[in-house]
Amino acid sequence: MATRKHVFVTGGVVSSLGKGLTSACIGLLLESQGYRVSLQKLDPYLNVDPGTMSPFQHGEVYVTADGAETDLDLGHYERFTHARIGRHSNYTTGRIYQTIIEKERRGDYLGKTVQVVPHLTNEIKEAIRRGAQGEVDVAITEIGGTVGDIESLPFLEAIRQFGLDVGRRNVAYVHLALLPYLRATGEMKTKPAQHSVAKLREIGIQPDLLICRCEHPISDEIRSKLSLFCNVAPEAVIEEKDVEHTIYEIPEVLRAQRLDEQLLEVLGLEARDGDLSKWREIVDTIVAPACEVEIALVGKYTGLTDAYKSIFEALTHGGIANRARVRVRRVATHDVEKHGAASLLAGVHGVLVPGGFGERGIRGKIEAIRHARESGLPLFGICLGMQCAAIEFARNVLGLADAHSTEFAEDTPHPVISLLEEQRGIANLGGTMRLGAYPCRLVAGTRTHAAYGLKLVSERHRHRYEFNNAYRERFEQAGMRIAGTSPEGELVEVIELRDHPWFIATQYHPEFQSRPTDPHPLFRDFIGAAVARAATGGRPETPPVTSETATAGG
Ligand code: GLN
Repeated sequence: MATRKHVFVTGGVVSSLGKGLTSACIGLLLESQGYRVSLQKLDPYLNVDPGTMSPFQHGEVYVTADGAETDLDLGHYERFTHARIGRHSNYTTGRIYQTIIEKERRGDYLGKTVQVVPHLTNEIKEAIRRGAQGEVDVAITEIGGTVGDIESLPFLEAIRQFGLDVGRRNVAYVHLALLPYLRATGEMKTKPAQHSVAKLREIGIQPDLLICRCEHPISDEIRSKLSLFCNVAPEAVIEEKDVEHTIYEIPEVLRAQRLDEQLLEVLGLEARDGDLSKWREIVDTIVAPACEVEIALVGKYTGLTDAYKSIFEALTHGGIANRARVRVRRVATHDVEKHGAASLLAGVHGVLVPGGFGERGIRGKIEAIRHARESGLPLFGICLGMQCAAIEFARNVLGLADAHSTEFAEDTPHPVISLLEEQRGIANLGGTMRLGAYPCRLVAGTRTHAAYGLKLVSERHRHRYEFNNAYRERFEQAGMRIAGTSPEGELVEVIELRDHPWFIATQYHPEFQSRPTDPHPLFRDFIGAAVARAATGGRPETPPVTSETATAGG
């Protein structure tokens, strides 16, 4: 294999610039040119992984097939590219320090003083190499945080050294910066971007490409100014303006400015004909859909809605498969508890109850599920959503009044959701979650089986509690089918209601495997059922003031 090339993506001025998305698009563009890529994110914070961080602060915890709890940017990587994403695709400062401290305690440093340079930077470089394992032509590494932060420094130093180690010809540095727009004077400002590039150059990194996040087009004058002060060619100043309709437009925007060709030039690789027609079709479908449906996403909305990132994306994908625009009504569980499900769900064509932890909002989720079950509204339950669907069914159909999950009521007389026998007693020690991909056998004749068209599927998990097998028969007899189990049959993975237009709930998280180019079958069919509901009289009504409305993916 030819020398592996590396692309490093840094960000300046502010965080949340869309560096993850841009890195994913760079991956996609290079793949379209026939190169195999890997994608990796290095996060400068001290948590060992985002597993214990609040999704309402940090965004969704993205689970990889190999069971790592990672940053949500990895979701973008998987949705845009074919890169193999796993535990080596995300490292934090905390995780890297953990390795160093373990080595130090073992005496691996042979009495030397352990220092940020070279020990920490060596460990970071090792992480970069591990992230690029396998058959990879170009390894893309995104550095989280903002240039100029104290905590980013060791990472920037490490990627500078990396260029020296492998040869400058084998690395490209891409810097993403914000160009703020001052409405009062109608001006776009380049100074913050200049400063962030100056910071990078101080460390010894000269960006090859400067991607500018902005709200308005960049004039020639601004381009020359940036070129001059940041020491990049005018053509290498790339405009990444906020997109109008969908994030899936970004690859074309970057292609139009020869981002991929310029990168390949820097890396000494030849450009081939990149074909993006598949992505063009996706954008066309999103921009001009044949119909529109509204889905209620019943969740805990405090702060960031990035907490449900992959679900929003998967709903959009389900829409693409049905040529439907999917509007998402964010229905807060506490509103359902206060105002009742019927008024908050009025006019929607489907209800999605996502995963979660903790008791807050459970009552609202159960009420929303009851409303969907009784009124024939398509319902999709995911993880905690599935557990709530089981609790609701046990209480209101089987008549087991206090049925619950032992996560929330340890002494419930009817623990329809509980820990497995072997999990008891170790539950509070951590590390007991079922994480990552597990096989699931689907039951012939179920809607779930028909959706996948497969007997055996693999889906990702992140939960501790399971459906209690003692209740299986009663569920089946009353019309709730066990539609999927672990291969040996001991764990319930999917339940679905027999006499209902579409009611499926999964213990796993199907949203992690949906792609715009390959929508997940359950999201496809859920939106399909919502489209059918809309066509047969589920009239859209004005949403009540208590819930927000937004377009999926936006
Ligand atoms: N809290 C539930 C469990 O641990 C569900 C978790 C989830 O929805 N991801 O089993």
